[in-house]
Amino acid sequence: METESPFCPECLAASQSGSPGKLSTIQGIGRMFHGRTQTCERCGSSVRTAWSVFLLLPLVPRGSFRVVEFDELAAQGVSSTPFFARRVSLCWPQVLRTWAVGGLALLFLAWIVVQRFS
Ligand SMILES: [Zn+2]
Repeated sequence: METESPFCPECLAASQSGSPGKLSTIQGIGRMFHGRTQTCERCGSSVRTAWSVFLLLPLVPRGSFRVVEFDELAAQGVSSTPFFARRVSLCWPQVLRTWAVGGLALLFLAWIVVQRFS
């Protein structure tokens, strides 16, 4: 039982228990959240997608989650992770948008490299 859930009943009902695991990147490689949509006015949670990233570029979506972030609690060491997450079905509009942005970033990087070495 989740006695002190930060999520409101509606968000709880629209999601399942599940965590993206530990999100961390080392030198741009690892896992991180991208995107933020469907922010709930009652509990402040929003839908974010966990990604496997390489050089900070989002490559593979690992699932979408309804997330409440606790930056302050994490900073004080109260919570081991800076967020609570519950799994929702993969948010394809967000995934496609993130891929589009990541693709543009990649093109931009490629352009810089071409400019420098041509
Ligand atoms: Zn809510």
